[in-house]
Amino acid sequence: MRRYLLPQSGNFYKANMHCHTTVSDGRMTPQEVKEHYMANGYSIVAFTDHHVLVPHPELKEETFLPLYGVELNVDEIEGPERANGKTCHFNLIALEEDNLIQPCYHRTKYMGGHAEEHRCEVRFDESLPDYERIYTCECLTEMMETARKQGFFVTYNHPTWSRERYPQYMNYHGMHALEIINYGCLVTGYEDYNPRVYDDLLSDGRRIYAVAGDDNHKLAHTCGGFTMIKADKLEYRAITSALEQGHFYASYGPLIHELWVEDGKIHITCSGAYQVSCHKQMPHRDKACRAEPGQQITEAEFDIAPGDGYVRLTVTDDRGRHAVTNAYFPDQLFD
Ligand SMILES: [Zn+2]
Ligand SMILES: [Zn+2]
Repeated sequence: MRRYLLPQSGNFYKANMHCHTTVSDGRMTPQEVKEHYMANGYSIVAFTDHHVLVPHPELKEETFLPLYGVELNVDEIEGPERANGKTCHFNLIALEEDNLIQPCYHRTKYMGGHAEEHRCEVRFDESLPDYERIYTCECLTEMMETARKQGFFVTYNHPTWSRERYPQYMNYHGMHALEIINYGCLVTGYEDYNPRVYDDLLSDGRRIYAVAGDDNHKLAHTCGGFTMIKADKLEYRAITSALEQGHFYASYGPLIHELWVEDGKIHITCSGAYQVSCHKQMPHRDKACRAEPGQQITEAEFDIAPGDGYVRLTVTDDRGRHAVTNAYFPDQLFD
């Protein structure tokens, strides 16, 4: 019997999961972002301005859903030499639209861009002392786990741009997802397509998802990296529930239509592709289906077995752009 990994029912909603506006250091206003993305086929934008969680309920309409979030960062070096050090950035997206208490808040520090002007709009737990950020794995794990416990979807962002390596990211715990594709970084020359980071984390036993976003600060960064979320309706909790359940894939080009397992095989249908590859926890079991020269493929299937560990697929188009599925583990693939 077919077991659908992306739900068979519902609609795909195109989402940009990482966005900056004039609320922090972006050039476009929230309204301009909404209009631009709607005109390009998007239904969802997660507003993740730096430092301040400012919701945008005024942007909501039947065919557009703003998600409410914030991007937090902890820097190895503070002050003017900051760019010479490593940094860790992560996005928090509120799972409930009325649960907007910003975790790990400091009343006077950690602002930038226009965020200071919006400090008065931030809600935080006034009974808690100011939270001091330190660039250590312990502090970053504490921040991610605190945010997760307080009802946020936590995504670890652009490790390449941040200059973070295996010893850093392998010791961060609490994230729901890795930002496997950051389009704003890609178009400015950073290799922030990060499949290897995803495999490192998965191989350590983490059950995390892979998302894509634009991280747009200006027009040139827009409408490239997207997450296709499958849900029954375009309502806040329906969409965040689909995020929690992994009902989505990440891309900066190809589309994935269907994904299912049946009789020991994983099947995918997709937009015209140059190659579909299957990655498994046991690396010598990776396989690829490739189109003949001048042709494209729109489906592929691969043998899977419980001993493979996790399985995930990548679709590559003839411009070298990728769509990636989440990773699925044996208990999700087999009875
Ligand atoms: Zn960032
Ligand atoms: Zn960002």
